[in-house]
Amino acid sequence: MTPHPTALPRLFIGVTMPAPNKYIPYYDDIIEAMAGTGCAFCTLQLRAAERYIDALLWESVNDPRIRREVSAARGFCNHHAWLLVRPGGALSSAIIYKDVVQSAARIVQNPPAAAGSFWQRVWARLGGRTRHADALVAALSPQQPCPVCINAGEIDAHLSETVLAALAKSNDVLQHYQASSGLCLHHFRTLLSHVRRPAQRDALLAVQLEVWAALNVELAEFIRKNDHQFRGEKFGAERDAWERAIALTSGPQPAGKSQRGGLTQSL
Ligand SMILES: [Zn+2]
Ligand SMILES: [Zn+2]
Repeated sequence: MTPHPTALPRLFIGVTMPAPNKYIPYYDDIIEAMAGTGCAFCTLQLRAAERYIDALLWESVNDPRIRREVSAARGFCNHHAWLLVRPGGALSSAIIYKDVVQSAARIVQNPPAAAGSFWQRVWARLGGRTRHADALVAALSPQQPCPVCINAGEIDAHLSETVLAALAKSNDVLQHYQASSGLCLHHFRTLLSHVRRPAQRDALLAVQLEVWAALNVELAEFIRKNDHQFRGEKFGAERDAWERAIALTSGPQPAGKSQRGGLTQSL
C-alpha cells in the first residue's frame, strides 16, 4: 500500500492539489498500479474510495453537512456502501444510515405535493399511476449522486490528466501502459475523453488495441481447451482470461467487506 500522498513530497504531474482528507494518486502511484493486476485506474479508485470512507467514518461522521449529502443521495451506491463494513466502522455507519432511514420515513410521512397540469394528471392516470405516487417516487429517489461516486469522478479526471501530462513529456507512461493489463472500458473512455492531442489519442488507441488483442488470444485458447478434443491439455495463464475479460469491460468485481482497520472505534 502506498503511503498517504500528503505525507511526503513526491513526483506529482497533475492538476488540482489534494483537498484535506482526500487521497489523490500521484504519477508513481499510477505506474505502480499499472504493474499490478487489472485496470490501474480501478485499483486506484478502490484505494481512493477506501480512504474517502476512512475520512468519512473517522473524521466527518459528526459533520451534519456530510450526513445531509448521504441522506440526499438516499445512501451510498451499492458499489460503495459495502465498503463501510470494516472493522471499527459499525457505529459511524449506524449514525449515517440512521439519517438516511429517517429522511426516507419523513418523506413518506409528509409526501410532497403533487404537481402537474390537468393533462399531465390525465396522462398519469392513463398510465395507471397517480400524480401523488409519481411525486413520492421522485422524492424517494436519489437527489444527488453517491458522495463516493462524486469523489471517484474527480479522481478519474485527475488520473486522466496526470497520464496525459506525463505522456506530453515522454513515452515512459505508454511503455508501462503497454506492459499492464490495460484500462477497463470505462476508464479507457474516460482517458480518451480528456485527450486533446490527436497523436496522444492514436498512441493510446494503439496500446489498448494491443491489450485487447492479447486478451483475445487467451480467450480463444481458453475456449479451444474447453473443446472435448483438447480436454487433455492443461490450462495455462489463460485459465482466468474470462474473468479478466469481464473486469476489463464491465469493471472489477465489487469489493465486499473492506479489509481496512478502524482507528478509533471498537466494533
Ligand atoms: Zn477501470
Ligand atoms: Zn458510489
